[in-house]
Amino acid sequence: RSINFNAGPAALPQEVILKAQEELFDYHGTGMSIMEMSHRSKEFHAVHVHAQSMLREIMDIPDTHEVLFMQGGASHQFAMVPMNFLHPGQTAHYILTGTWAEKALQEAASLGSVDVLASTKETGYRSVPAELSKKPLHSAYTHITSNNTIYGTQWQSFPEVEDRLIADMSSDIMSRKIDVSKFSLIYAGAQKNLGPSGVTVVIADKDFLGTAQREQPKILQYKTFSDSNSLYNTPPTFSIYMLALVLEWTLERGGIHAIEKANNEKAQLLYHEIDSSEGFYEGHAEKGSRSQMNVTFRLPSEDLTAEFLKGAAAEGMVGLPGHRSVGGCRASIYNAVPITHCEALAEYMEKFRKKN
Ligand code: PLP
Repeated sequence: RSINFNAGPAALPQEVILKAQEELFDYHGTGMSIMEMSHRSKEFHAVHVHAQSMLREIMDIPDTHEVLFMQGGASHQFAMVPMNFLHPGQTAHYILTGTWAEKALQEAASLGSVDVLASTKETGYRSVPAELSKKPLHSAYTHITSNNTIYGTQWQSFPEVEDRLIADMSSDIMSRKIDVSKFSLIYAGAQKNLGPSGVTVVIADKDFLGTAQREQPKILQYKTFSDSNSLYNTPPTFSIYMLALVLEWTLERGGIHAIEKANNEKAQLLYHEIDSSEGFYEGHAEKGSRSQMNVTFRLPSEDLTAEFLKGAAAEGMVGLPGHRSVGGCRASIYNAVPITHCEALAEYMEKFRKKN
């Protein structure tokens, strides 16, 4: 298998792929795979509720919050959040830390009143804001992106806001211990840390859900999913099954503490390589905002970047070109990426630097 640094869809644990392969032909003696049976079957129902309870255990989700499985990716949530929670007469506040935050803002702006509470756009999204300049008034909520996949920045601690805090955690959910109770709503497309694309996880405060507007079509209301335990219509059954396998793997590895420790070690290997390169590799993110999930860096020239990427590919490493809006390189090192892959990349970076 490749040494996979894709940004999403991204590497899944090898053990998970093998287990899915083993169960694909005949799931638990049913004579069919999980994707060939009803979402109302007892077999699928067991997978569905087990995934919810494992996520609760791993992320220590309090009883005040619900776990929903939805579809449409994080982009769908960009619209769902304001549709449900941006009431007339209120303003939704957004903190801009990258492209995804901008997209979330655009959707809200098409539905109601919005304001930017802070932004690091002018400095090329190299950091998350150090402080919030304004106090939100008549605020529906404040929206943040916890990890900026494209720029490689991440909130090290979350901003203290007086209104409701909502976070797009698509690229760092379940990568570190967080206090879920601080958030009124968290959403994440699964395709980075949780499994394949197709399922979107939403963790929401039950009281907050109760304040949602009711005039939307049913399929666009969170209430519809919460009233039906996310089984209002056919859910993405195979994605939820894969999510369950990833959650089992996470628990077997020792849960969130073990994952967080490994993520720190992995990121440290690559940042050390950047910092000790005497300027050969230049990190995009400021040190205080560095992401543990997406390590972004540049080489001294476009030619060297191309050569670096070509050599990496020859060593079996994929997914290293940076996002087209930032250029350079990006190593996405989500939970499933083993430390051995980061060691291989760090070694290659050192070798390449010495050669050039
Ligand atoms: N938010 C973040 C932080 C992302 O990294 C991405 C995709 O990479 C998205 C949102 C968009 O997700 P989706 O394609 O699931 O709509």
